[in-house]
Amino acid sequence: MEFLRPRSLDEALAAKAAHQDALPIAGGTDVMVELNFARRRPPALLDLTCVSELTGWAVMGDRLRVGAGVTYAELTGERGNGSGGLGQRLPGLAIAARTVGSPQIRNRGTIGGNLGSASPAGDCHPSLLAAGAEVEVASVRGTRTIGIDDFYTGVKRNALAPDELVAAVWISPPSGPEQFAKIGTRNAMVIAVTAFGLALHPDRRAIGTGIGSAAPTPVRAPEAEAFLAEALAANGLWESRAALPSSVVTEFGGLVGAAARPIDDVRGTAAYRRHSLAVLARRTLTWAWEEYRCG
Ligand SMILES: Cc1cc2nc3c(=O)[nH]c(=O)nc-3n(C[C@H](O)[C@H](O)[C@H](O)COP(=O)(O)OP(=O)(O)OC[C@H]3O[C@@H](n4cnc5c(N)ncnc54)[C@H](O)[C@@H]3O)c2cc1C
Repeated sequence: MEFLRPRSLDEALAAKAAHQDALPIAGGTDVMVELNFARRRPPALLDLTCVSELTGWAVMGDRLRVGAGVTYAELTGERGNGSGGLGQRLPGLAIAARTVGSPQIRNRGTIGGNLGSASPAGDCHPSLLAAGAEVEVASVRGTRTIGIDDFYTGVKRNALAPDELVAAVWISPPSGPEQFAKIGTRNAMVIAVTAFGLALHPDRRAIGTGIGSAAPTPVRAPEAEAFLAEALAANGLWESRAALPSSVVTEFGGLVGAAARPIDDVRGTAAYRRHSLAVLARRTLTWAWEEYRCG
């Protein structure tokens, strides 16, 4: 197996163009499992760990640009550019990152690797969907951005062309509370049975959602989003910050559960997945609304 080690993004893109069947490797926490279990035998590995352009994050205009090589440990970080680290700036993603694997996995695993694997159970995806993120992808042909809704194209498939790499993720800093919750068969080092990300967007009176591990790809719950936005507006709740009627919370949970397209598998049944999603949606909405009321 050939091992390609570019030292810059230009070199990495040239290598990917020349060796389109080379498998990129960042933290290696998915790739090494696949190699070790002989699930994959690529002719070449394209090591991205020396490509400094993929690391770090920055505030650019009114958005954050998070490099593909940013690790879970960095996503949870308290320190960083100017007034705060990514953990404070992107709280939904930080909550999700804290649930990933173990400290070793969080130190190696990257957001770009999570997008590269595009597993329906990947923990970044619900928060990225709820935030309405965009993925910046690059190749020798140039750079393009893909809306997160269009990025996931099938089970463990994404919209990358064979010569493209994920360069970064663009996210608007949230104008309201964000939450994430996950159910697993134990408390740590666990693949989600279901996961749910929620973002309240008071600036545009909108709701963002993301469902993990309960459909062939990570998906949003558009009917639940529309229902909640309408209920908040109709009752003047964005302005009054009054308590949410329990009927609204219950209906929101039901609509989130109904948006899933789960299967029965070793981790849980389809029925349990729908039920647990409704519970996660109710819980995260209750937490997020309490934060909004106190904010
Ligand atoms: C013990 C263990 C526990 C885990 N727990 C969790 C968990 O709780 N939640 C969770 O979501 N995941 C978990 N994972 C899976 C894994 O850690 C994550 O998916 C992680 O984000 C992968 O990132 P990486 O940098 O290690 O990717 P790699 O393994 O290096 O790559 C993963 C895939 O992405 C591609 N890729 C990487 N970077 C790029 C790029 N810049 N452009 C294009 N393609 C790219 C690779 O070719 C590969 O297909 C776990 C894994 C292990 C081994």
